[in-house]
Parts: sequence; structure tokens; C-alpha cells
Amino acid sequence: MAGSEAAWQAARAGVRVVIHEMRPDVGTFAHKTGDLAEMVCSNSFRSDDDEQNAVGLLHWEMRQAGGLIMEMADRHSLPAGGALAVDRDGFSAAVTERLRAHPLVRVEGGEITALPEAGHWIIATGPLTSEGLGQAIAAETGAEALAFFDAIAPIVYAESIDMGTVWAQSRYDKGETDEERKAYLNCPMDKVQYEAFIDALLAADKTEFHEGETAGYFDGCLPIEVMAERGRETLRHGPMKPVGLTNAHRPEDKPYAVVQLRRDNALGTLFNIVGFQTKMKYGAQTEVFRMIPGLENASFARLGGIHRNTFLNSPTLLDDRMRLRSRPHIRFAGQITGVEGYVESSAMGLLAGRMAAAEILGRDLPPPPPETAMGALIHHITGGAEAKTFQPMNVNFGLFPPLDGVRGGRKGRKDRYKGYTDRAKELWTAWLAETRADLAAE
Ligand SMILES: Cc1cc2nc3c(=O)[nH]c(=O)nc-3n(C[C@H](O)[C@H](O)[C@H](O)COP(=O)(O)OP(=O)(O)OC[C@H]3O[C@@H](n4cnc5c(N)ncnc54)[C@H](O)[C@@H]3O)c2cc1C
Repeated sequence: MAGSEAAWQAARAGVRVVIHEMRPDVGTFAHKTGDLAEMVCSNSFRSDDDEQNAVGLLHWEMRQAGGLIMEMADRHSLPAGGALAVDRDGFSAAVTERLRAHPLVRVEGGEITALPEAGHWIIATGPLTSEGLGQAIAAETGAEALAFFDAIAPIVYAESIDMGTVWAQSRYDKGETDEERKAYLNCPMDKVQYEAFIDALLAADKTEFHEGETAGYFDGCLPIEVMAERGRETLRHGPMKPVGLTNAHRPEDKPYAVVQLRRDNALGTLFNIVGFQTKMKYGAQTEVFRMIPGLENASFARLGGIHRNTFLNSPTLLDDRMRLRSRPHIRFAGQITGVEGYVESSAMGLLAGRMAAAEILGRDLPPPPPETAMGALIHHITGGAEAKTFQPMNVNFGLFPPLDGVRGGRKGRKDRYKGYTDRAKELWTAWLAETRADLAAE
């Protein structure tokens, strides 16, 4: 996805591109064909609503930028209500054909197993990056900065948390500053609530791992339902332990268990539920998590999961032009940068392709403003996200700088989202116009 879009954008700017694709010579457990831009699972690009939905806005921005992935998705779309569903075979065949037919693009087979020493490169090898290249990247970045699994805890919009129930406190009031001492939000449970929560966890629908997906995963990132299966008290001695915390609303009540949330972005609009990675199905997750006191009306920016997924700790490794700080002739794009999903991956390919082309043409393309969907994503992965807990992210309005003068809460949501998308469209159009000259071949 990302590699195809990056190649298209660079070629359109007049730059020669070689795409290296290892399939069909070397396969992955999820891909089935040798085509470029294969959709490995669902055939949906999600919501196409560019006024009320952040991924719909990303569609809009990519269309404005002449994106190949969006053009071919539109051409091969299937009826799906407000979503953009795609005929996967027609779509990837068309992307492949268009790229192969471009006079400036060459497609070469074979696996890349080492980091290239010279030239301009974009690594967009995705969540299933081959083992050889994964090792080469880990050798460059340090093993701790490259993950092979995501263990995604659910992320909640701050505005949907009931602060009348929840209080801010770090365990044992640890921290040098007041901000550090209040870095966590705490949701208290009594014994009855805890027992009901464990029952719901055990009964919830779960998804299974794909074949070949599980190797080495169980170290240190057990799903909460697996912990609950090991014993009803396990969570109370793990991520839900109640020690070192005093309920600020009712200091005399000692909680039986506590669910903690930690700030997930610099803006303070998103909070993740600490240690709550899960394989529960999405419907079950919202039901079970809304049983947590303080989260009865929670809106989720993303739900939890555990998957095979190779991704970088981009906030520490990449600069804001998506270059590897230690080897700036190499850019990364797509899911390996810590975005999640077909659309987000393609979007990061679009930016990386344009940035690389501009550099080859002797120019410098700045990242788009953070108020755009593209800008919100690139700012999140290259700086806005908390590096210590960095996990892959879908585009969502929690990544956007807040709007002044609009109503908060559920009631104001429609106006607020329209405000975000109007602002984004204006700034994206201006950014495209301003940067056009940076992409013009001389
Ligand atoms: C099992 C599974 C299910 C998923 N389901 C969904 C879903 O339903 N919806 C969704 O939006 N997203 C889904 N995703 C995420 C999805 O993979 C990404 O959204 C998207 O495909 C990522 O785009 P990308 O361009 O970063 O990587 P990819 O589209 O995977 O492209 C990477 C390419 O690099 C090639 N490659 C890898 N290593 C090398 C190498 N060393 N040398 C040469 N070529 C190499 C691969 O063959 C592949 O063609 C799923 C991922 C997985 C693993």
C-alpha cells in the first residue's frame, strides 16, 4: 500500500523509481498474490464521510493530492453504505498495472535483506516485513526500538471519561513534579464490580490468532482475558492492583481493584488503559470496558488488540521528514512507522514519496500542518506520541489540536467534527498549493 503510493507520488514529480517487491518469490502468511497493494484481510477502506470521520477526511486529502490508492479504490468500489469497500482483486491489479505502465517506474522482484548504503530509499515493508530485513533494521535501531508484535491497549477520548468518579494520581504519588504525581487516571472498583468484570471478561467473544502469527508473543504482553483465565485474582495482582492509591473523591473507601489510564499524546486528548491488551472482539470490548466505573460513557479512539506487526519506535527514530535519524538517506513509510490500516499506511506512503522526490529535486518539503489528517498522523508518529508506550495508531480526531470556541462532550460532537474537517480541508488545500513548486521537476 504505502510503497505503491510513494512510488506513484515520486514518479509524478518526475523522479525515477524502482519498486522492490519480494512477492511472489518470498511470501507472507497473509498475502496471497504477487500483486502490489494487496489487501490482506478486510476489503474496506472504512468510512468515506469526509465531514464527520477522520479516516473519511484522510480519503479526501489523498484524493486532492492525486493519490493512486484512492483513485483505484474509487474505481473498484463496491456498494457498502457510508463505507468505501473495494473489489480487492480489481483494485490491486489496477494499481500494479498503472505503476508498471509508468515510464519512470520499474518493478524488481526479490527480497531486500540489508539496509542500503547509498541512494534515496523508502522502506515500506509493512507489518510482515521479512525476517532478514527485520534483523537488519533491528541491528541499526537497537532491538528495543523495533517491535514484532503490537499489544494495543484500548485508547479512550479524555472528554468521555467521568472525572466525578475517576481521579488523577500516580501510584505512591511517585514523580518529581505535580504533573508526574498526577500522571494516571484511576477508576476504582469494589469487590462486586470486580467479580462482575471478571465474569464478563471470561464470557466475552475472542478472536483467534492467524496460523504462524503467535511465535514468541506470549512474553510480557498477555491479553487480560488470558490473565483472568489463569485465576480470578490475577488481574488484581497485575494491571488492576489497587495499592498506593487513594480515592480522591471518597478517601475512606479502599478500592478492591483499580484500572489505570495513562496519557497517550502530548495534547492530553487520549488516554490508554494500562496493560489492557486484549483479543476480545470489538463489540465485546466496548461492552466490557464500559463496565469500568468512570468509563460508562467512554468513546474509544481505538480498541485493543494483539497482532503480528513489525513497527519502529518512530518518535525516537524518525525525524519529521520520515528519515531515519541515523541514516537520513533512508525513509520509512506505511504500517512499519506505527500507523495502522490500509488508508493510514497509504497516506504515509504519499507523504514519504513526496518528501523523497522533493529532496532528490534539491528541495525540502515540510510536513503538512497538524490540523490536517495527514499532518495529525505524521506529527503523532514522529513526535506527538509518548515514545515509551508507542503502539500503532489509526487516524482519529483525538490526534488533532483542539478547536477553540466549540462545545465539548457528546452533544457538541457533530459541530466539533465538522469544525475539524473544515479546518483541515482549508489547510490541506493551502499546503498542496504552497508545496507544488517543491515537486516540480526542473
Ligand atoms: C493479518 C493481517 C490482517 C490485517 N487486516 C487489516 C484490515 O482488515 N484492514 C486494514 O486496514 N489493515 C489491516 N491490516 C494492516 C495492513 O497490513 C496494513 O494496513 C497495510 O497493508 C499496510 O500497508 P504497508 O504498505 O505498510 O504494508 P504492506 O501492504 O504489507 O506492504 C509491504 C510490502 O513489502 C513487501 N516486503 C516485505 N518485506 C520485504 C523485503 N524484505 N523485501 C522486499 N519486499 C518486502 C511485502 O511483500 C508487501 O508487499 C492487517 C495486517 C495483517 C498482518
